[in-house]
Amino acid sequence: MDIHKNDRAGWLQGPPETCSVQPACVPEPWRLILLGAPGAGKGTQAALLNQQLHACHLSTGDVFRAAKNSPECDLTPAMRSALEYMRHGDLVPDSTVLDLVRERCGCLRCQGGFILDGFPRTLQQAQALSELLAVERVSLTAVINYDLPVSDIVARLGGRLTCEKCKAVFHTAECPPRVAGTCDSCQGRLVRREDDGPESICIRLEAYERSTLPLIQFYKKAGLLLTVAASGTPQEICAKTLTALKAWRTRYLASA
Ligand code: AMP
Repeated sequence: MDIHKNDRAGWLQGPPETCSVQPACVPEPWRLILLGAPGAGKGTQAALLNQQLHACHLSTGDVFRAAKNSPECDLTPAMRSALEYMRHGDLVPDSTVLDLVRERCGCLRCQGGFILDGFPRTLQQAQALSELLAVERVSLTAVINYDLPVSDIVARLGGRLTCEKCKAVFHTAECPPRVAGTCDSCQGRLVRREDDGPESICIRLEAYERSTLPLIQFYKKAGLLLTVAASGTPQEICAKTLTALKAWRTRYLASA
């Protein structure tokens, strides 16, 4: 097993579960938020950045998808209702998302750092996160805003395929699997996400514009925003992100 790759059990299942691999002790852990419309490639970039920066990929959407695979009787009423919102492409209520993140706040003080993907998504979530981080005495390194034109977003979401087993992401046109319908890495079945249908895509984009776009100003004012153009291959976008982060940290250290 890759020494840096853990099963994120502490995040996906919540306490008392613990991760299979403890993070390496990094002197300056990266603590990042990834912003961007659905389909801008946050999940793909979080996975690539995890390999380079060794900070854990914490996605709230993954927590909901993991819960979807649990037996119905194990789900709390709040989680059952959250999955209903998700199915339609709507945002899950802030109170449910915040309860879930507060339960997992150990992941925020993890010495390996974190890459938050899909959280925060509203101003209320962003404010609650600031308070949580202050309690944990950790601060954000930067907030990366992946910028992509809407026409590209719709094309990306419409063709996206995800492996049922290892969650690797493919695209029917941009990144097709070697064998149609089968994951290149683990031979799992490739499926379209339930919320990647045309109707859900519209609802998700509306929710993004209404609730998540204001976060760009919020983090700009906080002096944390770093915008990266999200066009190109995943590897190209990751390289651009790493260059921007390196310059960011150098500037920060020079001014400290
Ligand atoms: P994602 O994988 O980040 O695209 O999230 C998939 C779905 O999970 C979203 O469309 C929402 O229904 C729900 N979700 C994930 N994270 C959040 C959040 N921070 N706030 C509200 N809903 C969320």
